[in-house]
Amino acid sequence: MTRVYIILFILVSNISFISTSVGDRSPTYQNNVLICMRSICKKDGFSFNETATKDLDIWTRLLWNCRDECRYRCMWRSVRVFDDREFTVPKFHGKWPFRRMFGVQEPGSAVASLLNLMAYMRMSAQLSRQFPVRTVPYVIFWHIFTLVCMNAWVWSIIFHTRDTPFTEFMDYASALSMVMAYFIAAFVRIFLRFRKLVGLMIAACLLYYGMHVQYLYGGFVDYDYNMRVNLAFGIAGGLLWGVWGSLRWLTGGVYRHGWRVAVFAAATAAGSCLELMDFPPLLNVWDAHALWHLQTAPLPLLFYRYVIDDIHFLRRWKYTEKTVLMSST
Ligand SMILES: [Zn+2]
Repeated sequence: MTRVYIILFILVSNISFISTSVGDRSPTYQNNVLICMRSICKKDGFSFNETATKDLDIWTRLLWNCRDECRYRCMWRSVRVFDDREFTVPKFHGKWPFRRMFGVQEPGSAVASLLNLMAYMRMSAQLSRQFPVRTVPYVIFWHIFTLVCMNAWVWSIIFHTRDTPFTEFMDYASALSMVMAYFIAAFVRIFLRFRKLVGLMIAACLLYYGMHVQYLYGGFVDYDYNMRVNLAFGIAGGLLWGVWGSLRWLTGGVYRHGWRVAVFAAATAAGSCLELMDFPPLLNVWDAHALWHLQTAPLPLLFYRYVIDDIHFLRRWKYTEKTVLMSST
């Protein structure tokens, strides 16, 4: 009876179990999970029984429920069986096996996300120091941009610490907001003088974003479609920044600072190749996704150096324009 209860529990409580991988389809894994849940879980499947609770460390108690703890333990038992038979390492529930650290499910991606967040925090502080909003109102745009990016990295840390349907939704929705923010920022900067066009583009992007988030919240996510949307905005933003920066760089003189954003766009594009790759984690920590997050961590330093130089440039240009207008009257 307990066995039937646990199977029913697994079926109704977790949609992702239906989207299986080689590892979790193996009988070794499935039987081990059933035995584990019978021995350490209460009937609800989420809480640990009294005996098991005494043996758990603080991180597991804080961050893991009983079913996921069983899945984690049985994943590694199954990996050993696969290793002994010299089979390739499989994925489990769509993920490679990661070594948990302090209860963090994917420590490589979580640490790399934290480094990205720190890079944005550092550059946000530099912007605030150099350009007070009272003297440079335009800088508000970059503060909003930075908040969007920082929010995305906060959710990335949370999602890679513990993957649940909610943290996954927040990570996906926030990641797209950051990709779109880079696209919008490029559009705003390039078409700075065409305010109506810029306003229309921002409104269209916000409308599309709202629709996409509503779709993601529906639960039945087409991962390929979501990836294509991110790629489309990522490529469009990368192209705009890359071409704009390169042209300014080649123009030389006061436009030379364009090289920074051109290199940023090229490095972002090169790093994105990692996201398209897929291999088992090195040292059970660093898979392609974690390495991709690690590769993007220093890039905001380069991007914001461009933003700072560009704000200086815009202020000089505005000053020069005013002077020319005044001297010609
Ligand atoms: Zn991630």
